[in-house]
Parts: sequence; structure tokens; C-alpha cells
Amino acid sequence: MADLDISAAHQLIDGVWAPAADGGEVPVLDPATRERIQAVPRSGAVDVDRAVAAASKAAPAWAATSPSERGAILRRWADLIAANVETLAAYEARDVGKPRSAGRLNVYIAHGIIDYFAGAADKLTGVTLPSRTPDFFGYTRLEPHGVCAVVLPWNVPAVLTAANVAPALAAGNTVVLKPSEVAPLAPFALAELAQWAGLPPGVLNVITGLGPEAGAALTGHPGVRHISFVGSTVTGRAVMRAAAENLVPVKLELGGKSPNVVFADADLDAAIPAIVASITENAGQNCYAGSRLLVEESIRAEVVERVAAGMAAVRTGPWDQDLDMGPLVSQAQYERVRGFLAEAPAAGARLVTGGEKATEALGDGWFVAPTVFDQVDSGMRLVREEVFGPVLAVQGFRETAEAVALMNETDFGLLSCIWTSDVSRALRVAGQARSGQVAVNQFHDAGVIGFPFNMQKESGFSRGGGYAALREYTQEKAVAVRLLDRPSA
Ligand code: NAD
Repeated sequence: MADLDISAAHQLIDGVWAPAADGGEVPVLDPATRERIQAVPRSGAVDVDRAVAAASKAAPAWAATSPSERGAILRRWADLIAANVETLAAYEARDVGKPRSAGRLNVYIAHGIIDYFAGAADKLTGVTLPSRTPDFFGYTRLEPHGVCAVVLPWNVPAVLTAANVAPALAAGNTVVLKPSEVAPLAPFALAELAQWAGLPPGVLNVITGLGPEAGAALTGHPGVRHISFVGSTVTGRAVMRAAAENLVPVKLELGGKSPNVVFADADLDAAIPAIVASITENAGQNCYAGSRLLVEESIRAEVVERVAAGMAAVRTGPWDQDLDMGPLVSQAQYERVRGFLAEAPAAGARLVTGGEKATEALGDGWFVAPTVFDQVDSGMRLVREEVFGPVLAVQGFRETAEAVALMNETDFGLLSCIWTSDVSRALRVAGQARSGQVAVNQFHDAGVIGFPFNMQKESGFSRGGGYAALREYTQEKAVAVRLLDRPSA
């Protein structure tokens, strides 16, 4: 097998890697050292036009392939990923700055997602409709949209590439993918493997470049028939405006401010490490990060002390040292998080561990120590806004109704995590959560296959994850037939 080397990768248009039309480039940096890893094209409107044209040209033939054939290509793609896990893990880890083993885990997740849609491709069906008399017959067909634009953030590039590209391709669409300019390496490598798997030219195209240039040109392009956007709520609004202009359906997966809600009867030996992981995994730069801890007052002191000890024990370093946590991804992200760290104590929050000072030992990298603030209140920016760093805000509650009110007291609605031994309370609170996803006695969706990645409120609206994602990438056509009498029949 050839080496999966993407050091010279450019844009992928119509099956060919090529530089930007005007030769522009964006450097990709290692956030642990601020050193340049490589450069990627700074795609512009001309490049986007070419990519959309290639995807449009490839669309009819790809839509006409048998779903089983599409599934077979996706399965080959998954197999190639399995055969290149270590190389892909390094790509996933390096530009984001996450530890190598976290990169590896993300590659396994991406593999699982592509494998799932490989199997699902030929199980997508419409329905037969009831008719008033036997003289009529009605049914629905699920048809691809055509060219789908997929615009991604930098935090989990391999997983998000898989989660958005695989169902789109399985359902018979062609794709123009724009990974983040900050972390494009794993999407490049995955796209290269998709070519090796036999994906015809033009079915998957990749452009790179800056959001207001390449991203805006792509999401505003009249040739695009569906937009999947994963990123911040602010950019999500701009993307939705662009979609409105062309009347194109849009799937938005945006920010979060997820709470871990810990009742006094919770199994703390299970809860504490999960709470620490939920806000230090990927240096807190996950949309579902457990950035709020709501804890019953009777166990608050113990929980805060144990969580703080867990946070203080998190080992931080560059991706290739493979410790527990890496740096933040960029200068902009570093400045943003430091702003919260400086502001929170001044607003009255009590710093329990971490804060700015603990990062001095780590040189030039954009490292921030895992940080816990107690005594926060709901009016603080730290509680209301997405920090996107390893910074935890703690609030106490005395009874279930108060816990539910605090849980829902956010503009976001991505994930709520409930920790309790009382199954009735868990189910009642899960029903009251105003979030698209709920986890009970665990953080996130471990152990469940095809978990729908749903969102509410300013976290967006999505039918990502699982079988529903296949439906997202299709449009339903209804067909009504009158059965005419034919005397000879
Ligand atoms: P971002 O919104 O800044 O950028 C996301 C992507 O949009 C990038 O590729 C960027 O180049 C592009 N972009 C920027 N401006 C654009 C414009 N005007 N038009 C079109 N595209 C444009 O987000 P980010 O900083 O890369 O990622 C962090 C955010 O992503 C966080 O808010 C996080 O919560 C969110 N996120 C959400 C999910 C989810 O599933 N809900 C998953 C991961 C990350």
C-alpha cells in the first residue's frame, strides 16, 4: 500500500489535488510550539466554483449507482482507515494539539461512523402510502439533494468529516468539503483514502481557506443544494442567512454549555473522573464539553475538592508526548480563554485550581491549566458563554426543581448529563431537559450505536448521527398513481 503522505496536499477538485487558483496559502501551525507544520491553499471564489462544478458534473452518475455499490466503496474507505490508524491519528492530533491517543480514538470513531453508513446505504427506503380505494397507489422516494456543502470546525476533524460526508455520499449526494483552515490535515488524509477506495472523481471535493472567503463562497453558491455546517453559533447565523438567499436546506450543529448535574445519591467514583474528562478532553474544546457542574449542596464541598484534585492531576503537553491534554488550538482561542480566566475572579468567582499562572512552564505553546471556578452565578459570562477551554464553572442546588431550572438556564441546548442512583428521578429530569441529547450516569453517548446527534435552542438543529442522518441528506418525493382500467388486462 502507498504511503498516506499529505505533506503536499492541496485542494481536491475532480479527483486531482491542485493549488489555489491564485496560489494563496494558509499556514497550519503546531499549537504546542507555534511552529509551521505545512501550508494549505487559501481557496477563493474561483476555486469554490470549480469544486461545485466538479461535484455537479459527478452528481447524476453517483446518484444512479446502486446503493449497495456506494456502500461497498464506503466499506473499502473504512477498511483503509483501519489499515492506516496510526498515520491518521498523528494527523488528527498534530494540528489540533490533542494527545496522540485521543487522535487515535477519534480515528476509531470516524471508522465506526463510515462503517455504519456503509451498511446503511442500501437500507434507506421510502414508504407505501394507504389509498382511498384499490384504484390508487401512493409511495415516497428518498432522493439525494445533489451537491452538498460541508463546512467544519477544527476540534474533531476526522469524526466530523466522517459524520457529515459518509451519510451524504451513502444517500447518493456529491460533496464539497471545507475543513477548518486551522486543522485540515485529517480531512485531507481521509479524502485521499476515499480516492484510494474507488470514489469516482468529483464525488468528494475538498477546498480549504478562510471562512469569510472560501466558506462564504461555498455556503452562498447557487449550485449547492444542501448545507451542513458545524461551528460556532455566530457563524451558524451567517451560514443560515446564506442558505436563505438560495432557499437551501441547512443542518446546523453549533456551540454548547453542557451541565453535569450531580445529585447527592450519585455514584461519585463514576462521576468524578467523567466530569474531569468532560471538560479536559480536547482541552475543553468540544461542543458537548461539560463546562458547567451543578451539584447538590450537601455534597458540594466533597465534589468540588475531588474534581479539583482530578483537574490538577491532568498531565499537559504536546501531542507526541501523549499525555492527558494538549494546548488550545490557536492564539485566538488562547486569548479568548485567558479573557475568561481574568474576568471570572473579578466578577466574584472563586478560583479553586488552575487559572492563568499554572501554564508558565509549558513554553511557547497555547497551554492553559485545567481550571475550576466555584461560587459562580448565572449572570456571569463564564456561565452563559461557550469558553471552549478546560474551564469548569460550579453552581450548587438544594432540590430537583432548582437543578432542572439551572440545567436549562442557558441559551444552548446540546447535552445534559444527569448523575443519580434514582432511576425515576433520572428519567423525569431527562424529560425536562431542554437539550437535544441527555446522558445518565455517563458523559455523552458511550455504548449506544447510531446515537442521534440532536440539538435544541442556540446549539442548532440537526439530524446528525445514526439513521436520521441518512434522511437528512435526502429529499422525499411523493408519487400518486391512478390505476387505469384496461379491458384487455
Ligand atoms: P467557526 O464558526 O469559527 O468556524 C467553523 C467553520 O466555518 C470553519 O471552517 C470556518 O472557516 C468557517 N467559516 C467561518 N466564517 C464563515 C462564513 N462567514 N461563512 C461560511 N463559513 C465560515 O468555528 P470554530 O472556531 O472552527 O469551531 C468551534 C465551534 O464549533 C464551537 O462553537 C463549537 O461548539 C462548535 N462545534 C459544534 C459541534 C456540534 O456538533 N454541535 C461540533 C464541533 C464543534
